[in-house]
Amino acid sequence: MRKYNNVVKNVVDNNLCVGCGICEPVCPTDSLKIKLNQEGTYEPYMENNECDETGNCLKVCPFNPFPDKEVRTEDEISDKINIQEDNFNHSKAFGKYHSLHVGYASDYREEASSGGIATWLLKKMLREKIVDAVITTVEETSDNNRYFKYVIIDKPEQLDLSSKTKYYPIELSEVLRLSQKKSGNFALIGLPCSIKAIRLAQINDPSNWHHIKFTISIFCGGLKSSFFTEYLASKIGVGPNQITKPQYRVKNVNSNAGDYSFSCVKKGEQTPRVLPMKQVGDMWGTGYFKPNPCDFCEDLSGELADISLGDAWIPPYNQDGRGNSLIITRTILAKQLIADGIGDKQLLCDVISKKQAFLSQEGNYNHRRKGLSYRLKWADRDNQIVPPKRTKKVFIENPIKAKIFRLRQKIQIESTIFWGMERNKMESNFEKNISATKNKLMFYTKLDHLYRKKYWIRKLKGK
Ligand SMILES: Cc1cc2nc3c(=O)[nH]c(=O)nc-3n(C[C@H](O)[C@H](O)[C@H](O)COP(=O)(O)OP(=O)(O)OC[C@H]3O[C@@H](n4cnc5c(N)ncnc54)[C@H](O)[C@@H]3O)c2cc1C
Ligand code: SF4
Ligand code: SF4
Repeated sequence: MRKYNNVVKNVVDNNLCVGCGICEPVCPTDSLKIKLNQEGTYEPYMENNECDETGNCLKVCPFNPFPDKEVRTEDEISDKINIQEDNFNHSKAFGKYHSLHVGYASDYREEASSGGIATWLLKKMLREKIVDAVITTVEETSDNNRYFKYVIIDKPEQLDLSSKTKYYPIELSEVLRLSQKKSGNFALIGLPCSIKAIRLAQINDPSNWHHIKFTISIFCGGLKSSFFTEYLASKIGVGPNQITKPQYRVKNVNSNAGDYSFSCVKKGEQTPRVLPMKQVGDMWGTGYFKPNPCDFCEDLSGELADISLGDAWIPPYNQDGRGNSLIITRTILAKQLIADGIGDKQLLCDVISKKQAFLSQEGNYNHRRKGLSYRLKWADRDNQIVPPKRTKKVFIENPIKAKIFRLRQKIQIESTIFWGMERNKMESNFEKNISATKNKLMFYTKLDHLYRKKYWIRKLKGK
């Protein structure tokens, strides 16, 4: 099989592009541009025919199907960048780490998605001049057909604008080009795949990327295409062209952490319309509007970042609607910053065990790693090209699990196709169209729960 030396042929054409945008600024002939595609995610395209096939774009791509041996997976990249320094611990779910905490930043928690640690940490780094600027996400205020963008912020007070999770595609091409023209050191926050791309760029061309001194990864259970926002907005009577100010994690401080809402303001109105997420059912486990590459990504937490921040989905922390963060440090600097915050009483944190950290992301782990072992087997059988993984192909399939993972893949595909067809219609047939697959998935998920219950009862009875 011919290995083409650019991302369009090797990654986009194999349905592996997650739309991080990092291939664009490394193209020496300026041939690549990034666009939002028909499926609501970003991808690069060739703007001219000047591609010299040197493959710079492929070398930084987190989904390069043919990486060099020394950057094959997160394990090899982690050894190469050696960020963990001495005395690190190891978890099969999160890779190498120094410390594990759950907690929150009192001053930022209520305006944040989880415990507000991201906003607190970025502000601290700017205030203490550990970095000169941060690369972070904010709402897009000019009407540019997108709701969020990456920007460079160098004033701590402006960081309040970047709080909160955006379940929406946001790409890095523009902001990275800009950062390379500025002087000083930067911190960058992003999804695990974006952090991987930054690390690959730093390995491939250190002189152009050493300005990014510190990386924060948010945990990730999968990207959502722009269709996700449109779908949620449609449930509260807002059409695709009427959406402004979408927010995905509106907290209910009187309830538990999982009881959050989506909100947006309809064009021409002032007050946000609110959709409690429990009204739409499980949008995460089912795979609605998730791009294909996320199903071939095994990095839950951002194993290559200085620090990773997620939600603490375990009791008692998940019972508090004000939110708590799961914090994993991987460098001495990151560990020290968290220790300082605790010492100064700006952070209220508990040390947690590796087991607790794992349990807080168990569902994500099961789909991403256990599910991957099935998906790798099927991809192999179907001659589908995928990047090398640490996870091994499943040997013997559990028929119920196999059915669940297959149906989730089907929902991913169908949700995108059906929403693409129905998104502009007043009377949408989306729910009707997707119901057959959704009902089957619910049936097999219940069967799996029942089977597991019986298994544990038998085990406890010693049979
Ligand atoms: C697509 C997606 C999937 C996620 N899946 C999980 C999961 O499965 N499990 C889990 O525990 N946590 C997940 N998270 C992370 C979680 O929702 C919180 O973002 C994280 O806990 C940080 O919370 P905080 O209160 O510390 O951040 P805040 O103080 O509220 O600040 C949020 C920070 O995250 C950055 N940010 C927000 N959205 C994006 C984005 N789309 N791309 C890049 N940067 C962004 C902002 O720029 C800001 O700096 C996911 C986030 C996203 C965007
Ligand atoms: S670098 Fe990012 S945007 Fe470019 S092809 Fe790879 S995943 Fe897609
Ligand atoms: S699941 Fe992986 S590839 Fe998908 S957005 Fe998250 S980190 Fe990126």
